[in-house]
Amino acid sequence: MPRGVIPRQPAKTGRHEGARGSQAKSLRANQPSAQFKGTESPLHTPKARAVQAGQKVKAGRISKGYNPLAPERIAEILARLDQLYPDATCALTHRSAWELLVATILSAQSTDVNVNRVTPELFRKYPTVQDFAKLTPEQLEPDIRSTGFFRNKSKSVVGAAKKIVSDFGGEVPDDMDKLLTLPGVARKTANVVLGTWFKQAVGIVVDTHVTRIARRLELTENTDPAKIEQDLMRVIPREKWILFAHQIIWHGRKLCLARRPKCVDCPLEALCHAADKTWTTVEVHKNVQP
Ligand code: SF4
Repeated sequence: MPRGVIPRQPAKTGRHEGARGSQAKSLRANQPSAQFKGTESPLHTPKARAVQAGQKVKAGRISKGYNPLAPERIAEILARLDQLYPDATCALTHRSAWELLVATILSAQSTDVNVNRVTPELFRKYPTVQDFAKLTPEQLEPDIRSTGFFRNKSKSVVGAAKKIVSDFGGEVPDDMDKLLTLPGVARKTANVVLGTWFKQAVGIVVDTHVTRIARRLELTENTDPAKIEQDLMRVIPREKWILFAHQIIWHGRKLCLARRPKCVDCPLEALCHAADKTWTTVEVHKNVQP
C-alpha cells in the first residue's frame, strides 16, 4: 500500500460515512452506466464486486486481463466526465483569437484567475495585435509582471504580434504549422487556440492537469507532453478531443488535485487505480503515479 493512501471500504449498508451533498451525488454517479450493463466493466468484475462488498484486495495487484485502454473503460470515463462537466470550456477571458493566444501565453506557470485579472486592462491599453507589434518587450513587462516569468512572456507576446502582423496579415493563423512558427507558441498553446477559438480538433491540449490525470487514469505512461498527446489521440475519439481536454483541466482544478486529490468525491473513483489516491474502493496499482 503506497504511503499516504488511506483505504476506506464502503459501509455494508451501502451508505458512506460523511457522504452527503456532492459526495452522495458523486457516489450515485459511481454506479455503472447503461453502457456497461451486461459487460465485464471495471465495476462488474468479480474483484470489483469483492471490493465493493468490503473484502480485502491486495494493493498493487493488477487484475488478470485488465486493460486500461479497453474501449468500454474509455467510454465510461468519457461518460462520467460528460456527466460531471457537460459544458466545460476554456476559463481564460477572451474576445478574439489574438486575445486567447496572449492569455494562453500568459497562463504558463500561472493561474487562469490571475491572467483574467491582468488581461482586461492589458487589452484596453493595447486593443489590437498591431498595438502589441509596436512595443518592445521591455515596454510590455510592467503590464504582465504579476503573471510571473514576465520577461520571457513579454518577448513571446511581442514577438508573436510582430510575426502575425508581418507574415499573416494581422490575423492569427488557424493552422497548426503556422501557429508553431510564432515565438512562445508550442503545441499546447496552438491546440488551445485551434480548439477553443477555431473549433478545430487538430490535437489535444496537454497541460499539467492533463498530464497528471492521464497518467493517474492509465491513459498514458509517458511524461513528455508530445507523447502524452499522441497517446490520448489514439484512445479518445476525435470528436471529443476539444471537450475532453477542457473537462480534464476542470477535473484537475476541482477534484483531481496534484496533492491530496478528492477521491471520495470523484465519480471516476471506481475506474481509477492511481497509487496516490486518497480513498479507494478498488485495488491501487503501485506503478501508476501522476
Ligand atoms: S479517484 Fe482520485 S486520483 Fe483518481 S481521478 Fe478521481 S480524484 Fe483523481
